[in-house]
Amino acid sequence: MTRIYQELLKFKRSINEAQDLIGKKEFGSALIKLQSAFGVKIKFYFELDLSKAAKSAKMNWREKEKALFFRLECLIRDIQAGHRKAGFLFFEKRFLPGVRNFLKKEKASFFEKTEPDDFFGEEFHDRDLAVIFLGESDFFAQRARYLNGIKNGAKFAKVGGQINRELGFLFGYPSCCVDDFMTKDAYLDRVFVRKIFKNTGRDFFWELNFFVSRLLTYHFPCSFGCQKSRVLARKRLKILNDKLPPLKEIKALAAAPVIFFTEDAYFSFFGKIKGNELKYEKFLPSSQISFSCSRGANGFFVNVLSQAFARGDRIVFSEKSLSVFAGQKLVAQIRGRRGDSYLVMNFK
Ligand SMILES: [Zn+2]
Repeated sequence: MTRIYQELLKFKRSINEAQDLIGKKEFGSALIKLQSAFGVKIKFYFELDLSKAAKSAKMNWREKEKALFFRLECLIRDIQAGHRKAGFLFFEKRFLPGVRNFLKKEKASFFEKTEPDDFFGEEFHDRDLAVIFLGESDFFAQRARYLNGIKNGAKFAKVGGQINRELGFLFGYPSCCVDDFMTKDAYLDRVFVRKIFKNTGRDFFWELNFFVSRLLTYHFPCSFGCQKSRVLARKRLKILNDKLPPLKEIKALAAAPVIFFTEDAYFSFFGKIKGNELKYEKFLPSSQISFSCSRGANGFFVNVLSQAFARGDRIVFSEKSLSVFAGQKLVAQIRGRRGDSYLVMNFK
């Protein structure tokens, strides 16, 4: 087992323990456990409503369903436009019958998978999820599923370069991005995001802001300033033009600062960064963007932080802390225990 795998396992176990505490309504203890799991220490200068935070965010299922079919259609177009040979999408099993019908109607080649691979070990299984592999033809759909299965079965061991390269080719990833992840272990998203962040210089292209939208960038770019990924995203904008909300609207959503903790806990702000200060009017928590983020202890953590951000209107950040202010009044202070407990990304 690699060190990173052990760390992730420890995180996952802490999340499960926090979940149990929330179930027993021991919210204070759950919050302490979560802070240590996320590597932060938070001081709140107002009265938190913890029982409110424990109520999971209400998801609008009709909206979620609409978004899923929209993404499927985008993927089909991407394949038809020759940007890729294959692609895949995770979604909740309850949508499977509808997805099947939709793809048959679209005459798309696809291969479905409803049982998890030996996906990073038992602790990381999510049996509510199904995956669809789409291809330019049945061959490519099945090939993608086959290679992906080997990759997932590798349990954080090093995956053969050949497999990564072929998957990268099938999914149409730019070569620089494939090369960058070539010799690395198979990791969870947060490890990739931290790596991409470290590789990024000054430019965080809004087209690559996959936190708020996976319609333009489906892959982990080598950096948030990757030119090849940006070119690909712009090609997608063209083929999706009649389907996407007006460009201005997507840009307003994606050209926005993001504060990232993990793939299940991040925040997108409608605001601007100047120096080390983020001034904002509104924000979107990950629980409103991705269904997996709204559940359980992760959802609780996001809801707690949301209470602080909702009171504030600016955040002063450094590598060591995020200080949330309402005017001159300090609302909350989040200290990072590691240098990368949270990441501030200024997408423009
Ligand atoms: Zn790249």
